[in-house]
Amino acid sequence: MDKHTCRACYGSAGDLVLDLGEQPACDYFPRYDDPGPDPVYPLQMWLCSSCGLAQLLADPTVPEEPRGTEPAALVAQAADAVERVTAAGYLPDRGVVAEYGSPHGGSWLDLLAARGLAPSGPGGQADVILDCFGLMHAADQHRALAERAARVAPGGVLLLQYHALSTIIGYRQWNALRHGHFAYYSTTALTAMLAAVGFSPRTAWHFDLYGGTVLLAASRDSEGNGGPDDVVRTLLAQDARIGVRDRSAFAGLQRDVHAHATALHDWLVAERSAGRTVLGYGAASRAVALLCHAHVDRALLPAVIDASPAKQGLRMPGTDIPVAGTARLAAGRPDAVLLFVPDLLAEVRDAYPGVEAAGGRWVDAETLGSRSLQ
Ligand SMILES: [Zn+2]
Repeated sequence: MDKHTCRACYGSAGDLVLDLGEQPACDYFPRYDDPGPDPVYPLQMWLCSSCGLAQLLADPTVPEEPRGTEPAALVAQAADAVERVTAAGYLPDRGVVAEYGSPHGGSWLDLLAARGLAPSGPGGQADVILDCFGLMHAADQHRALAERAARVAPGGVLLLQYHALSTIIGYRQWNALRHGHFAYYSTTALTAMLAAVGFSPRTAWHFDLYGGTVLLAASRDSEGNGGPDDVVRTLLAQDARIGVRDRSAFAGLQRDVHAHATALHDWLVAERSAGRTVLGYGAASRAVALLCHAHVDRALLPAVIDASPAKQGLRMPGTDIPVAGTARLAAGRPDAVLLFVPDLLAEVRDAYPGVEAAGGRWVDAETLGSRSLQ
């Protein structure tokens, strides 16, 4: 195998820190009548010894564009973030914004337009360059960040939002690793990446989304903005405590793959033995890795419900479990609904009160097996 080169600093020293083995592409949902087997590819995380960026080792998959429905939690977080960034004085009263969004959706442009910020023309400079879960989709991380930084107008700000690596390690979110997501940022590694393009973090905001999401504001070093504030320094100290640059800190993540999968499998077997009906909810990428590792089939989980019309008639990759529409929730009268996207809990409880009214309960698939903060 060719030696891996860091996606950010192009260094070659580093370690394989998480190995999920051969996995189907998590964003390619076969038609339900496609008997498989689905092609599988290695899914591994590598930690750069030089810059500290945790990254996808190789990605032989071809990205699909699965249009999911936008969770209410994501929409609410965007509004909250725009409020907080404005209150902190990081959004100009008027000006130009360029957004690098995620292919999975979640634009802030309407919210920013309401604040007087107009979208920039293609490739043009902007007072605010916003990247909301977009950068992780770039295979060449340095080039992608350099492109964003170059578009920041004099005196402007670069806003980067990411699911924090400290969250992934601390909450043992091993199934955050997926094809198509090339980087898993710590504030520490991102600070090094920013330094390479002449930028420094100035402040940050923390959100509960995905268990812990950070929005970082950075600006040009040459503009002398006084360096990182206490919020950034606290995030860096937290990174150091968790050990985001230390390969041994990832050992718990690797151990938890088997423990989590076993806990899920055992729980489903126990529910079936007790004569209880379980359905899944949320045909998300992290559900794919979890179901495959736990060897769950439709005998254990007859369907995964998803609100996205684009996923109807398909099945979960690597399994024979169909994706079903929300009507199945009422018809199936499940005793339990296994929720693969915990951020959806408040939304689905509101949207489908019949589940609990009929005596059913929502179960968080991520915390089965009582995983918790270190
Ligand atoms: Zn590196």
